[in-house]
Amino acid sequence: MTHTASPEMILTPPSVPTVAVRGTESRFPVNRIFCVGRNYAAHAREMGMEVDRESPFYFTKSACCIVASGATVPYPPGTSNYHHEMELVVAIDKPAFCVAIEDALEVVFGYACGLDMTRRDLQLEARDKGRPWDLGKNFEDSAVISTLITASESGHIDRGDISLSVNNEVRQSGDISDLIWSVPELIADLSKYYHLRPGDLLYTGTPAGVGPVEAGDVITGSIERVGSIEFTIAT
Ligand code: MN
Repeated sequence: MTHTASPEMILTPPSVPTVAVRGTESRFPVNRIFCVGRNYAAHAREMGMEVDRESPFYFTKSACCIVASGATVPYPPGTSNYHHEMELVVAIDKPAFCVAIEDALEVVFGYACGLDMTRRDLQLEARDKGRPWDLGKNFEDSAVISTLITASESGHIDRGDISLSVNNEVRQSGDISDLIWSVPELIADLSKYYHLRPGDLLYTGTPAGVGPVEAGDVITGSIERVGSIEFTIAT
């Protein structure tokens, strides 16, 4: 009998995070999570920043930050200002490098509702000191995601209501058409800097109305033609 020897791992490798694909038994494996900063003018203003069309900017979250809609998670450590950010998420299923804007949607598998949960106090301290945003953005359970809807089912998402409520009170309400950088523009730009790969996710930024949540709060959000999301902070 012959077989290919494989090296013994000193640890059990962590499993790849996955996202359910709506209406199927299939799952989408998550490779990387890219996030866009300040991509709605009203949100940029509420963060005390100028709006510009110079270029988009990005930060990342580890794939292991993914948590499915419906989860209940503890209030995270190290913060006293834990914020919701409701976002359209784009799921990429083809390689893309230096892709043209007009070709960018060809690499989009589908869309989801996402929450870019943020330790705002740590993010703003980092921002104001010129430090990386990781402590504020890249932490356990910080990338909440709904099931994915395929683009063939939803059509490409370039407009429509995006909203978020906390305990049934509306906090964020906007329209996808107000994105400063559209989905094709973001993919074209990001692919100048990265070889985008199947499994990459892109959180496209949040509309105005971000704010704190507390233990026991229930966050619900929706995006027209995409779906809905729910996330509960444990008591
Ligand atoms: Mn965000």
